[in-house]
Amino acid sequence: MSSDSIGTSIGTSINIADSVRIKGGYLGKILHIDLMAGNSYVEEYDEDFALKYIGGRGFGAKIVMDNLKEGVKPLDPENIIVIAPGVLTGLYLPSSGKTAFVSISPLTGIYADSNMGGMFGVEIRQAGYDALVIHGRAKEFSYIWIDDDVVEIRDASKYKGMKSTETERELKDDLCDEAVKVATIGIAGENLVKFACVNSEWSRNAGRTGMGAIFGSKNVKAIAVRGTKDLPVYDMDKLVELSDKAYKSLHDHPMMKFWQEEGLMSVIDYANTLGIIPTRNFSDAHFEDADKINGEVMTSRYKIGDSACYSCPMACGNICLVKSGKYAGTVTEGPEYESAAMLGSNVGINNFSAVLRGNYLCDELGIDTITSGSMVATVIEGYERGLLTLDDVDGIALSWGDDSSIMLLLEKIANRDGIGDVLAEGPYGVIKKFPQLAPIISHVKGMDQSAYDGRVGVTMALAYATSDIGAHHTRAWTIAKELEVGADWTLEEKIDLVIYHQTVRPLFDMLGVCRLPWIELGFDENTYADFYAAATGIEFTLDDLLERSKTLYDLTRAINLRLGVTRADDYPPERTFNDPIKTGPHAGEHMDRDFYEHMLDVYYERRGWDNEGRPSEEQLRECEVL
Ligand code: SF4
Repeated sequence: MSSDSIGTSIGTSINIADSVRIKGGYLGKILHIDLMAGNSYVEEYDEDFALKYIGGRGFGAKIVMDNLKEGVKPLDPENIIVIAPGVLTGLYLPSSGKTAFVSISPLTGIYADSNMGGMFGVEIRQAGYDALVIHGRAKEFSYIWIDDDVVEIRDASKYKGMKSTETERELKDDLCDEAVKVATIGIAGENLVKFACVNSEWSRNAGRTGMGAIFGSKNVKAIAVRGTKDLPVYDMDKLVELSDKAYKSLHDHPMMKFWQEEGLMSVIDYANTLGIIPTRNFSDAHFEDADKINGEVMTSRYKIGDSACYSCPMACGNICLVKSGKYAGTVTEGPEYESAAMLGSNVGINNFSAVLRGNYLCDELGIDTITSGSMVATVIEGYERGLLTLDDVDGIALSWGDDSSIMLLLEKIANRDGIGDVLAEGPYGVIKKFPQLAPIISHVKGMDQSAYDGRVGVTMALAYATSDIGAHHTRAWTIAKELEVGADWTLEEKIDLVIYHQTVRPLFDMLGVCRLPWIELGFDENTYADFYAAATGIEFTLDDLLERSKTLYDLTRAINLRLGVTRADDYPPERTFNDPIKTGPHAGEHMDRDFYEHMLDVYYERRGWDNEGRPSEEQLRECEVL
């Protein structure tokens, strides 16, 4: 498909031959950048590719699969990274500013994607591309400059060692254009910390799976993009009508005001009341001081403004200022729930100023808040229980809630200094150096567990265990539904809930929209099929789209099988089985191993996989692996 055939003016569908099925939405171009050769080229993909993989994470996974080479390690130059907004990214639609970063993870060694909001992906689309694919490794420390059709690999030595926001600020100044959008790494990405993130607009992060280390391994500090093109839409009148209706329904939602005020910080109280909040390295699931780090504390004492991703009325970003004390003057956007819990209750901190400081440091240094909180908590527990000596932890007498030593550890991780060099390797690296810590590191496939305890209910443990990127909550966040209505459900119904989440959630990443309107405000997912039809002219139903995201899950499973994943990797963290929760409403609960074995068998069966977790031949043919 040539992009000329679909036009680039808003609302037009000019010169479309009858044989062309796609009539808008897609730009038809993928920009490949070869850092080794120092050049770039544009690939024009065909319609079948677009209709099968939809966009965003779907495009990324397919391109990663096609470029998979035996023996290539995640930080080798041959490992590509795909940066793909979705087909709806940048259109006049609620919360349509999402971009997927897709690669093989240095943290886990398997398939990986991470998602960023903000404006970066919108600018990529406005520059004329549905995706960027970065190949090779630059000879010198570089940044990539994309100015519509002009693509350059430029010297970045000036920005070496800079923190994230400083890099973005300097690049905009040097390019003399405030409208330039920048995605950058901090010091951690340069130092190949395996959970380094990519940062944009201060606090928008592709946080998990170590995409920042991939940038670092390619000698790329940042990508700066300026796009000035209009995006093609098949039926603009219909799109505007649907969008106006969607904005109004979100605006009129009774929870909207509360959401705008607290955003995801409201989850602290919710998770603590339910007894699922990570507490002192998941040794417990109820935090006695949750009311000192919750949304109410944030809004009453720290919040000074809102922020939002492109075209999002929910504006869940909270800009906070520490006004007094040793962290006075710290300004940060966030934290949201995951960061506040992992840098708060999970490390025993009950002082919101310190939570904000930890969040600020992670963003500026360029490390994922969740994995950082997990690694720090692991060594605190290890030291407190006598599994680590004072020498092991650089002579720092670690203890729960000691914010000064926790901030020091975050800096050490980013700089790979002393014990920080071990923690920078993530769960696998820590276990290699200190095998005695294996029972207390809550991870799946090398990715530490997100901020919801998997011992409560059964679906969250299964969701973590069978996630294609490791124990990350965004693959299937089922805990609320299970605790709310699942008491009388059969096991099959619970497993189907996990599979439904694992099917519907990728769709948001394929389309390039945020899933929070659906999760938090009950926005009807069928509406996304209507958006897609108005944008592209393709009348897919929601089921048609879900069929494709289900195939995507088979595809990422196939990638992981090729990279060595087996049934043995589909288990929740050891703590789920061995350590009963200590306090709170679920005190005493943990999971029975035999029950889990049975649940995994049934899960595979309902997915159509064999009892080793391998998709059927038909499924593999469908995702073009056979
Ligand atoms: Fe961004 Fe929050 Fe809006 Fe989602 S709900 S698009 S994360 S501002």
